[in-house]
Amino acid sequence: MPFELNAKKAFVCDLDGTLFMGPQPIEPAVRFVIDACKSRRFAFYYLTNNTSKTPEAYLKKIGGAGIPVVDEQILTPLATLESYIRERAYRSVYLVASEAVTAFLQRRLPDVAFEFALERNELMALAYDPELTYEKLRRLAVLHNARPELDFVATHPDACCPSENGPIPDVGGMLALLKTTNGMTPAHVFGKPSPSLMAPVLQRFAREEIAVVGDRLYTDKAMADRAGVDFVCVLSGETTRASLAAYTGSPPAVVVEQFGEIAAMGEPTARENHE
Ligand SMILES: [Mg+2]
Repeated sequence: MPFELNAKKAFVCDLDGTLFMGPQPIEPAVRFVIDACKSRRFAFYYLTNNTSKTPEAYLKKIGGAGIPVVDEQILTPLATLESYIRERAYRSVYLVASEAVTAFLQRRLPDVAFEFALERNELMALAYDPELTYEKLRRLAVLHNARPELDFVATHPDACCPSENGPIPDVGGMLALLKTTNGMTPAHVFGKPSPSLMAPVLQRFAREEIAVVGDRLYTDKAMADRAGVDFVCVLSGETTRASLAAYTGSPPAVVVEQFGEIAAMGEPTARENHE
């Protein structure tokens, strides 16, 4: 089926490479989002796998670019982790995360003890923790050794995090270290490409009303494919014309240089003129 912009009601937007390049907004993309928010044409959700920061930090970044945004529009695997703990009514969780992220989850889940308690813990959860220490890793291993059946989840699978100095260790690397240590592997890994991150959007909109927009085929597009929604591929980040040509999966619904270009697809006269 051809991509129908007028049938869409919600965009799930990747951030880095799609709306931002590092700290800098990608101007025409951000302009399209601001205009569409003003005219209330589409609902927008903003998606990141990065669990080293709280959603508040992303509210600031997106709001700082002039985009009107509220809490519910930010989708990070921390929300998936929160629901996971809630649904299972866990009360004692060994969480490996930054202090700010731990404090955030503690505010959201006041009845849960985030603690290391060999006898009591019901879950081990690993987030992207820039304050990671040997002791935190040792405790995960010790918990698994003592209780191999103890539930274990990770917030996302990314092997590395891009930085201005090249790739730096992320959760995927920590999981590889733990697996090498004693074979422990998480029962669930949240974050892209898992469509669990999109649960709030899938609850509110029909699949054909949703499009995911992003710059990475193996995370953003893989998530869209698994959720059964259209994917808009932007070339403003990681994917290039060359990498797209080499890609063996199903083609994206649309390919644009940057997200702002999509606006032209909603104007039938403009499209007819192009054909
Ligand atoms: Mg990206």
